[in-house]
Amino acid sequence: MSIETTQALIADKGIEFFLCSFVEMSGVPKSKLVPATHLDDMAREGGGFAGFACGEMGQGPHSPDMAAIPDFSSLQIVPFRPNLAWVAGDVHVEGAPYPFCPRGVLKRQLEIARAKGFSLFSGVEPEFMLLGADEKGGFAPYDALDTLEKPCYDLRALNRNLDLMTELMKALQFLGWEPYANDHEDANCQFEINWTYSDALLTADRLTFYRWMVRSMAEKHGLTATFMPKPFSHLTGNGCHHHLSLWNADATENLFLDKGDENGLSALAYAFIGGLKAHAKGLCALFAPTVNSYKRLVKGAPKSGATWAPVYISWGGSNRTQMIRIPGAGRIELRTADGSINAYLAAAAMLAAGLDGIEKSLPAGEKNLDNLYELSDAQLRERGIECLPSNLSEALDELEKDAVLMEMLGPQLGPEFLRVKRAEWKSYHDSVSSWEMQKYLGVF
Ligand code: GLU
Ligand code: MG
Repeated sequence: MSIETTQALIADKGIEFFLCSFVEMSGVPKSKLVPATHLDDMAREGGGFAGFACGEMGQGPHSPDMAAIPDFSSLQIVPFRPNLAWVAGDVHVEGAPYPFCPRGVLKRQLEIARAKGFSLFSGVEPEFMLLGADEKGGFAPYDALDTLEKPCYDLRALNRNLDLMTELMKALQFLGWEPYANDHEDANCQFEINWTYSDALLTADRLTFYRWMVRSMAEKHGLTATFMPKPFSHLTGNGCHHHLSLWNADATENLFLDKGDENGLSALAYAFIGGLKAHAKGLCALFAPTVNSYKRLVKGAPKSGATWAPVYISWGGSNRTQMIRIPGAGRIELRTADGSINAYLAAAAMLAAGLDGIEKSLPAGEKNLDNLYELSDAQLRERGIECLPSNLSEALDELEKDAVLMEMLGPQLGPEFLRVKRAEWKSYHDSVSSWEMQKYLGVF
């Protein structure tokens, strides 16, 4: 969207303020509030930020200012305050694109794909839980009546949440995202809203905005919405599945579609799957980027009977125990990513891995139709099915070994990502949990 179109939109929609935004490594938006009277300055110079203050941006307190130069094609009018518009920025420092900017990493990867004749389309399924204070001052699923062992699709629970859910759906309609479904998910007080897929950059912008919007709108109802991967060990976690398809460069033809194939997938799609499988372990560091993420990627049954989360590097059919599910012709569903992803880095990573699969014609391997949660270790070994990393530390070691993914992150961000995340792991490892106290204190 050009500055002229934005100016016309400001006049037409009555926009008085902008949230000039960007994300650092965590993927959570940071913003400056800028009055529309200063649109031209903002468009030219960007919002100015002290990078060290906002999170992990490869800056120290001595570093020069970062400028988030707004990309108006990302503009979203804030549904609950329509005189305010959010816009994602590309971070620059001293006039040059900044290599630590996650949005810049995705744009670079999309350019690489475009040069090869491809564009990536994606649709996301970010799950979230609605929490309130529990009696110990912590957080718990807020609705005391939402106690079923299998609460998925429960109409009574959905009914009790219709105020917020219809508000959220209307907000997405207002934004023009074409939402088409909303359901109570598998954990108590867990929900998911689906909206229509789009090009991967727009989807990453929307996902970034969406998590902020949902949290903000839930707060107005006195609730805490969380996308944290696994808030409660006895309940299913919060996934953020990605539905992917590769199209030609001008986005007129879905290159993953082959109606003659038994799964409706082209040879290109199988090679993309081959790439995702070959890089699956390193990808985990970007799809499951927190200590907590790995408590979701397990098969031990929670209250509902299944975690529905991937544990193994596999693909197959419309089967939710697989890392990659084939929900229909012409697309694949990658189920590893969770609610704590940086939307830009995760999308860039899936694209880099898939392109590598195409370049090297990597095999997708056998399709799995079994309930993978029930296969024995011997059966898994026989079929050559490997496990995803079981914790963040392992995933980071895998990422470091993965030249394709490290190149995707770039020579500055790659090592910085490893440094920051290893410090996160160490800080977790240094703490003594209540589980350890219960298990060992009375014994030794
Ligand atoms: N909550 C599950 C996960 O963490 C997914 C459930 C579903 O298939 O929607 O991935
Ligand atoms: Mg779901």
